[in-house]
Amino acid sequence: MTVLVTGGAGYIGSHAIIELLQNGYNVVALDNLSNSDKESIKKVKEITGKNFSFYQYDLLDYGKMRSLFEKYNFDSVIHFAGLKAVGESVELPIDYYYNNVSGTINLCRVMDEFEVTKLVFSSSATVYGDPKTVPIYETFPTSATNPYGRTKLIIEEILKDLSYSNMKWSIAILRYFNPIGAHHSGRIGENPKGEPNNLMPYITQVAVGKREKLKIFGNDYNTHDGTGVRDYIHVVDLVKGHLKALEYINKNTGVEIFNLGTGKGYSVLDLVKTFSKVTSKSIPYEIVERRAGDIAVCYANSDKAREVLDWSAVKKLEDMCKDAWKWQVENPNGYKSEQ
Ligand code: NAD
Ligand code: UDP
Repeated sequence: MTVLVTGGAGYIGSHAIIELLQNGYNVVALDNLSNSDKESIKKVKEITGKNFSFYQYDLLDYGKMRSLFEKYNFDSVIHFAGLKAVGESVELPIDYYYNNVSGTINLCRVMDEFEVTKLVFSSSATVYGDPKTVPIYETFPTSATNPYGRTKLIIEEILKDLSYSNMKWSIAILRYFNPIGAHHSGRIGENPKGEPNNLMPYITQVAVGKREKLKIFGNDYNTHDGTGVRDYIHVVDLVKGHLKALEYINKNTGVEIFNLGTGKGYSVLDLVKTFSKVTSKSIPYEIVERRAGDIAVCYANSDKAREVLDWSAVKKLEDMCKDAWKWQVENPNGYKSEQ
């Protein structure tokens, strides 16, 4: 089985390729490297001892996408490629709509032309907006508070329309909660450019001495300690969900949506304390204003993924912290460390 992985050089894509190769899939990866480094591809080959083809192509380049589908007989596509920075999406909405929405449309057009009709798509819990209650079920109403989230909602709607238009399509929409951690080898991980937007890479950069202190965005939320609560999920657990989704779409047509989370909520301070406990690193922090657009609490009900896909997350918050730290401390400058 040959799987095309878009965004294969990125954080989640690179972990997914390891899992695919170790489970006997052939992989072809594409990425325009706008938010990643080709070094991740090299590391994945070293970790697995397996080879695969990588193309530095852009989803927006229809001609190159076509040439790839002419060259390979893909069985399915896992579509990770996209821009993902919430704040940047507010500044550059057209770039986000063009890249994420038009890029996905290009991909679907080429897939349709070559009759490749099995697709796994990376969506996000951000599509639930500010939920009225938790845990969050797939059936909850959706909304967007920023252009990034709106690209995910628009793409979800496009994929539903596509599937309703022709029953040959088989699509799994995976709504990720908060992926963190890294491969246990410590050789690949999250590699943000510039100041991290997300909590875990910020914590690891403080721990390794690259940043002075963590800024905690508000301690006056209605949560057990006042800081925001999220459903952190180990990236390796998350990518295993993609293999289960591939198995599912191989047997079923139509479109299905699945939450991928642990079902447990931890606060910013819970994460800081757990990180300090397992790494023996203290994390200096200060409490600052709430970040615009943040919500108090977000965690999943993942019963559907457990029942339908036979998938559930197994790794604990301690494992997520240990693995994120191993990657950071062994690669203080990310993929630039060994070059
Ligand atoms: P990432 O930025 O590390 O990976 C995305 C990859 O896509 C990057 O390598 C980037 O260079 C590539 N890319 C972007 N636009 C492209 C284009 N037009 N053509 C080809 N390649 C392109 O991000 P990630 O964390 O690995 O996220 C993967 C997917 O999961 C994204 O769609 C993201 O929105 C979604 N997601 C991520 C999170 C998270 O917290 N990391 C949460 C929910 C959803
Ligand atoms: N957060 C924080 N400081 C940071 C980054 C994040 O306090 O430097 C908080 C944020 O307010 C939220 C949680 O950490 O409560 C997770 O934020 P992240 O950006 O990682 O994920 P998301 O906002 O997408 O859930």
